[in-house]
Amino acid sequence: MDAHNHARPTNGSLDEDVIPVVGGSVLDERTLVLNRSWMAVNVTTVRRALTLTYLGCARIVDPVNFDTFDFEQWISLEIGGSARVIQTVCSAIRVPELIVLQSYDKQPVLRVPFSRRNLFLRDNYRCQYCGVKASSDDLSVDHVFPRSRGGDSTWVNCVLACHGCNVRKGNRTPQEAGMRLLRQPSQPRWPVYISLGYHHRCASWRRFVADSNASESA
Ligand SMILES: [Zn+2]
Repeated sequence: MDAHNHARPTNGSLDEDVIPVVGGSVLDERTLVLNRSWMAVNVTTVRRALTLTYLGCARIVDPVNFDTFDFEQWISLEIGGSARVIQTVCSAIRVPELIVLQSYDKQPVLRVPFSRRNLFLRDNYRCQYCGVKASSDDLSVDHVFPRSRGGDSTWVNCVLACHGCNVRKGNRTPQEAGMRLLRQPSQPRWPVYISLGYHHRCASWRRFVADSNASESA
């Protein structure tokens, strides 16, 4: 790859000379990034995904049969009837939904910041006691070990609760209140849903996303 660096863009954005795009918004859409073990490690823009592929750092994955393609192969593909495309000056290129990195082998080590918004995403707008799904107005953040007794605001001590469950639990632990959590709260591992609503996720991503929330729709 080093031998090509002088001729190829290395600044992380797609060089205008590489693909003179007509209407660039598609380039800002999202592509799932897999490591060499085909684990989801990130989400990037279509623009960046094409650049990484152009630079030889990644291959584009066919979302149906999971064949992989280098840049030249991908832009030479015939466009099927329903495929989403990037319209360039002289042709059309299929939008890459997935890329697989060629040299990144590490397990993803990601710290999702603890925040109210991310907690809603982790728990998928579902009360973690009774399982009811509700709007953000009808859910609140419950400290499993009550805050008034020293419980921390952390991923492992906070869950969403509906108003009914919150009142019922009161200033008690679930055990004291005779309530059960649907699942033990934990730090989310998957970074993708922080920046995306579920409705943005491609069907082809689901295979690579381990989080149990991923198959649910919002
Ligand atoms: Zn509830």
